[in-house]
Order: sequence, then C-alpha cells, then structure tokens
Amino acid sequence: MSDKPMSKSRRDAVKVMLGTAVAIPMINMVGFGTARAEAPANAVTMDDPTAQALKYHPSAADSDRVAAARPGLPPEEQHCANCNFMQADVGEGDYKGCQLFPGKLINVNGWCASWTLKAG
Ligand code: SF4
Repeated sequence: MSDKPMSKSRRDAVKVMLGTAVAIPMINMVGFGTARAEAPANAVTMDDPTAQALKYHPSAADSDRVAAARPGLPPEEQHCANCNFMQADVGEGDYKGCQLFPGKLINVNGWCASWTLKAG
C-alpha cells in the first residue's frame, strides 16, 4: 500500500462511498419493515385458488362487488370488515381471519363473492 497521503478529492469520494454504503441498507430496512406491516406472510393473495374462486380482492373498491353484489347492503358498503365470516379476534391491524380462508388473513378493506352482512 502507498504511504502517499490521500488527496482531498479522493478523501471526499471515499466519504461519499461510505455514506452510500450505510444509507442503502438502512433504506432497505425501512422499506422491508413497511412492506411487512402492510401484508403479513399469510395474507390471502389474489392468486390463491380459493381467492380466485370467490373473486376475493384485498381492496373492495377494486373488486367485482358492484357486478356481483350480495343482498344486505349497497355494493359500495360491502367489505370484509362488515362481513359475517370475518374473525375479528384473529390477526391484527387491517389483516384479520376469515372462516373461508383458514390459517390465512384477509384485508378488512377487501371483499369476496361470499360477503354476507354481519349478524346483529
Ligand atoms: S367471506 Fe367475508 S370476510 Fe371472508 S373474504 Fe369474503 S367478504 Fe371478506
């Protein structure tokens, strides 16, 4: 290795590289944490066979609920949170259990063709 002192511009370049090397993993950690909070690993996905059969969509507004509305409430008011099959004591946040998706979590803002107005 050379004993020559590093030039100022080279020192600055090294500082920038070190700063970037630290910043990128931190950005990735923040992004990873956000993604996990939004969708747990066992969240029902749209390629799930049951989800496809039931036309489940994690966003009721983007679902087929207008075309395939169920009786009980106007289509725009139908979503998992007011469905009789949602299990409010399973999961957390926007992700809760559903009797039709055992072991998985649905988005409370979602909808599927089995929506049934919550009793009581
Ligand atoms: S049955 Fe109800 S809670 Fe379950 S996915 Fe369909 S609309 Fe949502």
